[in-house]
Amino acid sequence: MARTILIIEDEAKIVRTVRLYLEQAGYGVVWATDGTQGLAAFRHEKPALVILDLNLPGQLDGLDVCRTLRRDSNVPIIMLTARTEEADRLIGLELGADDYITKPFSPREVVARVRAVLRRAEQPESPSQIIEASDIRADLQRRAVTVAGVPVEMTANEFDLLVALMRHPGRVYTRAQLLELTQGTTYEGYERTIDQHVKNLRQKIEPDPPQPRYLLTVRSVGYKFTED
Ligand code: CA
Repeated sequence: MARTILIIEDEAKIVRTVRLYLEQAGYGVVWATDGTQGLAAFRHEKPALVILDLNLPGQLDGLDVCRTLRRDSNVPIIMLTARTEEADRLIGLELGADDYITKPFSPREVVARVRAVLRRAEQPESPSQIIEASDIRADLQRRAVTVAGVPVEMTANEFDLLVALMRHPGRVYTRAQLLELTQGTTYEGYERTIDQHVKNLRQKIEPDPPQPRYLLTVRSVGYKFTED
């Protein structure tokens, strides 16, 4: 069965093109033109992924929609943003969006990102693969994490990033390497998303996020998982 992608975007021209390319790639597409419709469509259609424009008409903007979706769902979210919306984009990532695409973009890029995000979210791992480092245990098959025995919810991106770092405790990774490992891209413009994902992860797994115990910053290089 074709997986459904929900596009929440008021610009019909953008939607028409993106929809065409997604359908050619084998996805089903549902379209909503504002946040309220978008949330209703999300509940009815149970899409595999949401493409969410930040700038929407009506009562709810893209950030409101992102916040609401994240309240009870880990559905992958790709945000569409204009170049002038840098601050909003970072807030979106803070709210748990998985990726963003800056307008203007090519529809091919959208399809590639959708594939990559879905692949990360749905990747079946070999059975009962467990990675443990320090107090953290990641179940690759269930994509579930516990910290000192307590389950912690996270998005697909955060999980992949954490696992990449946990595989080699003490090894230092640059942002570009982490991007490549977790998202299959090395595009420089997206390196800041790694910082945001690390920040979100710390909020979720660190007992004292400002003084991280597990996810350590290596100044002017990148990040590593603690060797302890
Ligand atoms: Ca718009």
